[in-house]
Amino acid sequence: MAANDKEVLVKADHVKVYFKGKKRGQTVKAVDDVSFEIMKGETFGVVGESGCGKSTLGRTLIRLQQPTDGHIYLNGTDIAGLKGAQLKEMRKEAQIIFQDPSACLNPRRTIKQILMEPFEIHNLKGKIDVDAKIMELLQLVGLDSYHLSRYPHELSGGQKQRIGIARALALEPQIIICDEAVSALDVSVQAQVLNLLKEKLGLTYFFISHNLNVVYQVSDRVGVMYLGKMVEIANYDQLYEKRYHPYTEALLSAIPQVDQEEQKERIHLEGEVPSPYDPPSGCHFHTRCPKACDKCRHTAPELKEVAPGHYVACHLYE
Ligand code: SF4
Repeated sequence: MAANDKEVLVKADHVKVYFKGKKRGQTVKAVDDVSFEIMKGETFGVVGESGCGKSTLGRTLIRLQQPTDGHIYLNGTDIAGLKGAQLKEMRKEAQIIFQDPSACLNPRRTIKQILMEPFEIHNLKGKIDVDAKIMELLQLVGLDSYHLSRYPHELSGGQKQRIGIARALALEPQIIICDEAVSALDVSVQAQVLNLLKEKLGLTYFFISHNLNVVYQVSDRVGVMYLGKMVEIANYDQLYEKRYHPYTEALLSAIPQVDQEEQKERIHLEGEVPSPYDPPSGCHFHTRCPKACDKCRHTAPELKEVAPGHYVACHLYE
């Protein structure tokens, strides 16, 4: 699922993440045979309702979660089976920013101590000028040296998220997973943080959010997930022009447009997202799809290229 001529940074190849269910013999297929690529320098956004597997996929891409099956290539190296020192070394290249910055900042440590942690973990103290690096990071995220002696509870939500970003950037990673990274912030602060991530830093991002508007704003390409499956992948412009999958159509009809003439009629999906413990047979979306046919109930569609760089998993386009 490549984006034409750019260089591939991450390649997920038939990645599966299964968990044991509460009942004996029960399996939850949180991520079920997902393949796609993330290009160097792009922001790959992922949308889907709660429980669709997008956070599990993000954690798996950087090996915070072990895949059950499949391969994950980072710069051509399969990281799915890495252990010990090799896994630790890989972690320098891939970082994550979580939704709640408070939960990941130790309340008993000062901001300086918190920003020091990545360098301590990777034994870089003494090898590089850590103090200078911390000052550089602080300036990059728009904070001042006096913040270094503060504790997390003395900072605002936006400032704490900036510290989370600074810490994620400390080891100069190649990719950052943003898991609802701006969801807890005020709209005005969201814009500042998004601008910081996208415009100033220009890294590669895997951007997860339940907020379609935010994903749409920041992403070069967008992947749509439903019950552990990737059902549509396309670049921003393609999706804006045409969405093929009925689920994408419904999801994106909810985004308000500035131009009222461009506002699509909102498509309301019937019913709840089915339980991942017992997903529907065939196409998982068939129980809610207004276009479902008999084949949809027993045969799962494969993700296929329907236009250059535009991939869809739906029997309507085979
Ligand atoms: Fe709807 Fe069938 Fe397409 Fe699934 S495969 S999205 S049920 S039309």
